[in-house]
Amino acid sequence: MTVPRRYLIQTFGCQMNEHDSERIAGLLEQDGLVAATSVDDADVVVLNTCCIRENADNRLYGQLGHLKSLKESRDGMQIMVGGCLAQKDRDQIQSRAGYVDVVFGTHNVASAPGLLRRSVLEGPVMEILDEHEAYPSALPARREADHSAWVTIQIGCDNNCAFCIVPSVRGKEVSRRMGDIIHEVEELAKDGVREITLLGQNVNSYGRDLGVGQYRPEFSDLLRALDAIDGIDRIRYTSPHPKDFRPDTIAAMAECASVCEHLHLPLQSGSDRILARMHRGYTASRYLEKLRLARESMPDLAVTTDIIIGFPGETDEDFAATLAVAEVAQYDSVYTFIYSPRPGTEAATMIDEFVDPDVAARRMELLDEVVERSALAKHQARVGRVELALVEGPSKKDPNVWSARTGQNKLVHFSADGVNIGDLVEVRIEYAAPHWLRGVFVGKHSSARRARTRIAVTAL
Ligand code: SF4
Repeated sequence: MTVPRRYLIQTFGCQMNEHDSERIAGLLEQDGLVAATSVDDADVVVLNTCCIRENADNRLYGQLGHLKSLKESRDGMQIMVGGCLAQKDRDQIQSRAGYVDVVFGTHNVASAPGLLRRSVLEGPVMEILDEHEAYPSALPARREADHSAWVTIQIGCDNNCAFCIVPSVRGKEVSRRMGDIIHEVEELAKDGVREITLLGQNVNSYGRDLGVGQYRPEFSDLLRALDAIDGIDRIRYTSPHPKDFRPDTIAAMAECASVCEHLHLPLQSGSDRILARMHRGYTASRYLEKLRLARESMPDLAVTTDIIIGFPGETDEDFAATLAVAEVAQYDSVYTFIYSPRPGTEAATMIDEFVDPDVAARRMELLDEVVERSALAKHQARVGRVELALVEGPSKKDPNVWSARTGQNKLVHFSADGVNIGDLVEVRIEYAAPHWLRGVFVGKHSSARRARTRIAVTAL
């Protein structure tokens, strides 16, 4: 009997890459490979790279150096490199690391197994396409969790944020046909999935490039259509762009029982001057107005954001404006990043205006203090309430404790017997920390669908 080859995928970066990795795993398994438990017992190692993070290329070549030694000691081992960095650097990878067997890009994930087979016969191969050949969601997948799935609704981005490399590695915005998305979600529901997360770089512009005659689907139409699918208890999405976040999306969120009361609305900066330099297309007051409208329509809405500190040219006044917006917004949580240049972006050329790292670090501390205060206050307000949460698995710190996630995307820890991953549970909250809650198990629940909150959404 032939022993199947084993593969291992190492994923860097965002949910889009994690989603692509599930597809790569599904395709390799369709080709007869099985999952390995570690690099040490893998015949094929796939690095799904990301170029968003600082020093991504140094990290990649460091990791490749380690794999090179393994490959030299193991007959038949192969190395594949895909993802954004491969898309961006193309043939540079094989010229710097000639032992890499396959280089593929973000647009041809579907070809990965074929390229692997080709490389066995022909030696190293590289194939990067400039347009996508298939939606990742249309490919077979090996999902990490049975109860939860990502669904790509759009790829690429038509914006040009000065700090971001995504448009040049993921290409122009292309929306997936609504019928295909609905079909995929119906199939997922039949397969036992109860939570989906819709993925796109700018989900609110979904459908802009679709439409026949008078009809052009909007993101809100998609939310309503998916909400009608039996078995799907929770719909999440990431990420909306504040400039395209419109009242019809807010109305759909408020109306659709399965759409979670969580909004991740990336602010990036609270200074209008910096927002303009970033080409973000909104002002701080416009952003806050949209937030106000969303909270008016969904009073229990949790709001999270991304903020870049020390964007080139950010002054003390600019940063003070960011702090002021964070105070008003009262975020549930914030992903704060100190700016670091990404080669190939406009902001990376603003070298003369880079902010002193010590100044940026101090600003980060100040912002974190504001955010921790609002996050803790939001969590403390939930003490005594019974929360509905979806069980994700044992807690990372204590395997005897379960971790579950509420509709507001809050992590809740509790102890109970007879609970399984994917169960919906009710937990009475007893303790609040800024980043998690702890509670007492009340019981299992059949559906996460919250009561519909029909509050009229007025125009902005
Ligand atoms: S909207 Fe801006 S930050 Fe988001 S992917 Fe597009 S260019 Fe990048």
